[in-house]
Amino acid sequence: MNDFIFHNPDKVYFGKNQMEHLPEELLKFGKKVLLVYGGGSIKKNGLYDTVTKLLKANDIEIFELSGVEPNPRHTTANRGAKICKKENIDVILAVGGGSTIDCSKGVAAAALTETGDVWPLVSNRVWVEKALPIVAILTNAATGSEMDSWAVISNMDTNEKIGLGGGALVPRVAFENPELSFSLPTYQTACGAFDIFNHVLDNYYLAGDATFDMILEFQEAVMRAVVKWAPVAMKEPENYEARANLMWASSMALNNILDAGTVHGCACHAMEHELSAYYDITHGHGLAIVTPRWLQYILDEKTAPAIYRLGVKVFGISEEFAVMEGAKKAIEAVSNFCFNTLGLKANLSNLGINDEHFKNMAEHACFGGVISGPKNLTAADVEEIYKMCL
Ligand code: NAP
Ligand code: FE
Repeated sequence: MNDFIFHNPDKVYFGKNQMEHLPEELLKFGKKVLLVYGGGSIKKNGLYDTVTKLLKANDIEIFELSGVEPNPRHTTANRGAKICKKENIDVILAVGGGSTIDCSKGVAAAALTETGDVWPLVSNRVWVEKALPIVAILTNAATGSEMDSWAVISNMDTNEKIGLGGGALVPRVAFENPELSFSLPTYQTACGAFDIFNHVLDNYYLAGDATFDMILEFQEAVMRAVVKWAPVAMKEPENYEARANLMWASSMALNNILDAGTVHGCACHAMEHELSAYYDITHGHGLAIVTPRWLQYILDEKTAPAIYRLGVKVFGISEEFAVMEGAKKAIEAVSNFCFNTLGLKANLSNLGINDEHFKNMAEHACFGGVISGPKNLTAADVEEIYKMCL
């Protein structure tokens, strides 16, 4: 077990009847709020009206940044930063999924720079220690952005999608009402569920050198919850129990509890970000295509026991197999979850992607070095994995 510091300052209001606390939490930071949201789902499901009424009733002044894209663009974050500077915004209220919360983090960081441009922070991988406070109302169980210190920002001019991190980016307060995800389409439910699953798997001790058994058990419990409840939420979108389990799993997966004492991994995420950067695909779908192929690629004598354990603990496969056979069964179970249970298309070619950019994508995913993990991946390895995904 490695040494670790655990610090997560986010205060979470979880459940159906928590929204009344929103004004008091915002007013701790001031009266001028930048309300950030996406392409309109919050207008369709009534959340926009609920929030704006509540704010107005408490004399909170609202400014708006709307139209945040899935895979949020740096240009949109810059638009928000400009409003913050001009209007002296006190606090940012993100209402939506991971894209909206990530964009808000970009806004919050850029607003406190001289230029108001988020891209230099992103491209220079600056660890953000100074940002406007963020309050988040989550509508999609997926990214963990509601409780983590990361934002993923895309620059479509240069085909780059890069994580911006920093202690100042953790939302100060998050509202998590599972009912707000009832209106989520089935496809987004599936993609979000797999994003959660992969956040845990990317940090799981696949090299078989685990020494912190309690954390492994926590990780497996969260992955089991996703495997159990995602299909329920897809069939019954208004099943509160299912939505609640997924929402808390989303937050748990990246709020630093599950990677305490582990080596932080990001192999599948690094490979997926390139797919989204070049082809603007849905993050969770890209992960679902990459993950089983990555597991196949890294399977060897060293990783087999941990992969087999994943199969036993998360998918309930028999403990009677020989290790290598059990590990292969585990990978089959992951594939089956992605492509049958969640119903996601299994190949990049299904999404209109060919091998044209694989070389560049692979090099970029490795940042000129290797992607470290249970098996370090060079650009040649990554290119091979992309080919397996075709
Ligand atoms: P999202 O991009 O925020 O939302 C996906 C779609 O779902 C949007 O069209 C959105 O519509 C819609 N939607 C969201 N909530 C809804 C609801 N309750 N009802 C109906 N429609 C709803 O999806 P996401 O998966 O949460 O975020 C993906 C982004 O986060 C990617 O860029 C990914 O790379 C990033 N990410 C970040 C982290 C992190 O640590 N910060 C981790 C993993 C991934 P509207 O736009 O109309 O609202
Ligand atoms: Fe993710």
